[in-house]
Amino acid sequence: MAKKTESAKCSFCGRPAEMSEILVPSADKPNTYICSYCVESISEILNEYKTNASGKGVSAKAESLGEIPKPKEICEFLDQYVIGQTEAKKYLSVAVYNHYKRLSQTDDDDVDIEKSNVILVGPTGTGKTLLAKTIAKLLDVPFTIVDATVLTQAGYVGEDIESLLTRLLQVADYDVAKAERGIVFIDEIDKIARKGDNPSITRDVSGEGVQQGLLKLLEGSVVNVPPQGGRKHPEQRMIPVNTKNILFICGGAFDGIETKIAHRLNTHVVGYSTSPAKQRYKRDNFLKYVAPQDLKSFGLIPEIIGRLPILTSLEPLDREALKRVLTEPKNAIVRQYVKLFKMDGIDLEFEDATLDLIVDKAIEYKLGARGLRSIVETIMIDSMFDSPSSNEKKLVITPDYALKKLQKSEFESLEK
Ligand code: ADP
Repeated sequence: MAKKTESAKCSFCGRPAEMSEILVPSADKPNTYICSYCVESISEILNEYKTNASGKGVSAKAESLGEIPKPKEICEFLDQYVIGQTEAKKYLSVAVYNHYKRLSQTDDDDVDIEKSNVILVGPTGTGKTLLAKTIAKLLDVPFTIVDATVLTQAGYVGEDIESLLTRLLQVADYDVAKAERGIVFIDEIDKIARKGDNPSITRDVSGEGVQQGLLKLLEGSVVNVPPQGGRKHPEQRMIPVNTKNILFICGGAFDGIETKIAHRLNTHVVGYSTSPAKQRYKRDNFLKYVAPQDLKSFGLIPEIIGRLPILTSLEPLDREALKRVLTEPKNAIVRQYVKLFKMDGIDLEFEDATLDLIVDKAIEYKLGARGLRSIVETIMIDSMFDSPSSNEKKLVITPDYALKKLQKSEFESLEK
């Protein structure tokens, strides 16, 4: 660092030493310095240059297709962590594979592979975020999960829509070109649905306004991103990011959308008087018939739906799936507890009937997969407290023991 003498000044802008935080001296020219202001603006110019370069064609930086995991491999990887959800896994695997393909396409013909953003519809706790997180483990492109609920239209309390990309920039270490090839998972997209059918009665700053703002990002354009997130302010330096090659995966529970799907299906079916088909629909999980028009009835604007061409659903987890969630995934809850106890030299085992009881309670308390962990935690807390100080080498969790622990806890009050 330069010794800030009175005479030292920036050799680029002439700013004197006392007006700059630091003066960086030249490595080989005496009395030659650069000030912090100049360093910052050069960095900005460089970022802009990289943005433009990456906008024209990422092929030079993209990996060859041979190194990219094939859809089946992506799906097999997902299988290790996520139970069921075959459809969603298939759609996601293909979307991610195509994302890589698009990044490695060359400009030697007129066909431009456009991105296909994804929307996952499924009840809460069925694995939407888990799918996204698991995909992230496999990929070597920057990936981030953001929550749509914090966003509001520009000028209102909340975060600006562009801040979605701040997180992506952060995980890419502010390497703009890298971030521009990343994947963003937008959770709770259903929470920015239009409230009510008439869009013009009141300003809907957290609904339609946000959707309009999001549109710009989804369709691919250069947006100015606040490097620290939050709200933009005039003095803040912005980083221009081109979203053309960023893949967006949206997820939402869309509570109540089944009624809209059922309504649509039944009116169709009644028209053709094919009653067996109608009965089939009735028995089935309606979500799997979700179509773009249902998202529209729910309150997403058609332009957004058009920008999320891959629509797939997740199934509610039944008893059998919940039991598998407990034991099968690579980091299944039961495996985690077994590991915890093993560290104390204790061999932990859950009886099969105990697992059934845990699943029953999760269903009874209407907690689904999200509740499994807290139920197991409640059952295990006393043992985790006592066992490390005892001499026991084996611990078997029986249904009686589990039930006693649950009855003792606040879970009992949930039952009422
Ligand atoms: P959401 O669909 O609401 O995003 P999450 O993916 O956050 O649900 O699921 C919450 C938790 O429930 C996960 O961390 C995981 O432990 C468990 N879980 C949910 N669905 C599955 C699944 N299909 N396979 C394995 N675990 C699951």
